[in-house]
Amino acid sequence: MTTYRGPRCRSCDGPCWQYKGDVWGYTCTACIDRHLDAAAARADARDLKARQRLLSKRANNSVFSAVSKVSVGAVT
Ligand SMILES: [Zn+2]
Repeated sequence: MTTYRGPRCRSCDGPCWQYKGDVWGYTCTACIDRHLDAAAARADARDLKARQRLLSKRANNSVFSAVSKVSVGAVT
């Protein structure tokens, strides 16, 4: 293997293949995926609570029950 001389990931110091701009800096794909997974997990938990709240509100409303099914599918 040749010595890697490119930019290094800020998180794991591994070889960085993608530059994601000022927000990400130099970050390897693995770290980005990890970050996105964590963010998605947090969003899911928050989303689930909001969804359950909405669904319980809409449970008494037959007009919105059909709409909520469609919107839940669209979000995920
Ligand atoms: Zn990394």
